[in-house]
Amino acid sequence: MGNARHQLFAFDNSFVRDLPGLYEPWQAAVVSAPKLLVFNDALAAELGVDAEALRAPEGVAALVGNAPPDGASPVAQAYSGHQFGGFSPRLGDGRALLLGEVHDIHGRRRDLHLKGSGRTPFARGGDGKAAVGPMLREYLIGEAMHALGIPTTRALAVTATGDQVARETMLPGAVLARVAASHLRVGTFQYAALGEDPALVQRLADYAIARHHPASVESANPYLAFFESVVAAQASLVARWMLVGFVHGVMNTDNMTISGETIDYGPCAFIDAYDPAAVFSSIDHGGRYAYGNQPQIAQWNLTRLAEALLPLLDVETESAIEIATHVLQSFPDQYRSSWGTGMRAKLGLDDEQQGDAELIDDLLTLLQEHHIDFASSFRALSSVVHGDTERVRSLFVEPRVFDGWAVRYRARLASVDRDPHTVSAAMDRANPVYVSRNHLVEEALAAGTGGDLGPFQRLLDVVSQPFDERSGLERYAEPAPASFGRYRTFCGT
Ligand code: AMP
Ligand code: MG
Repeated sequence: MGNARHQLFAFDNSFVRDLPGLYEPWQAAVVSAPKLLVFNDALAAELGVDAEALRAPEGVAALVGNAPPDGASPVAQAYSGHQFGGFSPRLGDGRALLLGEVHDIHGRRRDLHLKGSGRTPFARGGDGKAAVGPMLREYLIGEAMHALGIPTTRALAVTATGDQVARETMLPGAVLARVAASHLRVGTFQYAALGEDPALVQRLADYAIARHHPASVESANPYLAFFESVVAAQASLVARWMLVGFVHGVMNTDNMTISGETIDYGPCAFIDAYDPAAVFSSIDHGGRYAYGNQPQIAQWNLTRLAEALLPLLDVETESAIEIATHVLQSFPDQYRSSWGTGMRAKLGLDDEQQGDAELIDDLLTLLQEHHIDFASSFRALSSVVHGDTERVRSLFVEPRVFDGWAVRYRARLASVDRDPHTVSAAMDRANPVYVSRNHLVEEALAAGTGGDLGPFQRLLDVVSQPFDERSGLERYAEPAPASFGRYRTFCGT
């Protein structure tokens, strides 16, 4: 390398180059005593960056925001957002910065972003900071989702700042380094559509098409094809959430990506007992973002995207509305089809037969009525393939209530024309043994906040291989003890 300073990242910053008007150049706040808490070696390898250099003081200074790495062009991104249904025209990155973009080893463009890096012009009343606990949560849940095969942003690192953050109590501060396919949100389009410059939405749409939905350009109406493609990506994403019992918790339009990745793990949680009304966020009083509402909310958010795109869909507003409405109306069917395919995989049914929908609905009703753990019950279904119903039965206080459904299920399984071992092995790849259970997450974050990262690392290891049952990890597969009570999470601020 000679005298040349080692470059931590080979940045190529297309967002800054192509989309002036959608950001404010800004610098991160300097923190007093940066210390790397967690570093994602697997992700670093995927990005093709030098993990050793990032763990060294110069690397840590970059990951916490103290020294922008060579080639970075840090900006606070501008976006609007419907928050719990109410519109905020000017949200933006209040405590975050896009550092720049890199190409990973597969040639995919990925954003490198800091969260908790100090106040920006979008900070409003906020302090621009983040606490260790919520940043560890975002790291953990992102990795858990990734291991479950669900598109998601991922954390490269959590770095403690050495500074305190004032929340209900004083807490240790941290900065999250986040990697995403991009940080374009539904709210980015809403923001672009608000402005004086009508060409901005088009530039943003062209950018998003090139970056995420390039096949759209082949279409007669590229913007329509783009919108269809975002709708399809979100229908599939939310179906995947539902299939693992994930509750995002704050599905505001600024927290919904154009790429189809899950973003912004704040008051999120995995359900334990199956319950469509499950809500975990302390600020979601009306249950707007309850588990079972997520598909409808996604469609609502996509309607906001459609509104921003209208001028691009057709010169005639009436006809643009008609076109957009037609696409939006296809969302429920697309969602149900994705979800149905996923549910049949969870039950070991490869093709769709008459009666499957009722079989699935009746199972969910049973689970709901008897407050049965969602992950455990689905995981135990693979035993039924081998004639053992006891694993599922034993989850019920009154095991007999499962028997009627089990008879129907076994009859349906009899028509599956595959070797039972193949069927049960495939089911065990669709039904995780280990999800990030809320009581375990809380335990890990509390220890991590206190300086002990042991429980966090162990839980991270467990949820990073969610489908492989391992002895000694029984505790991670079990529902919360009754003493854990009703779970509440707080917004990750
Ligand atoms: P969220 O609901 O966490 O996605 O955040 C919504 C908006 O609030 C975004 O514009 C954030 O940048 C901003 N925000 C959240 N927490 C803070 C904070 N502590 N300081 C400044 N802005 C914040
Ligand atoms: Mg957000």
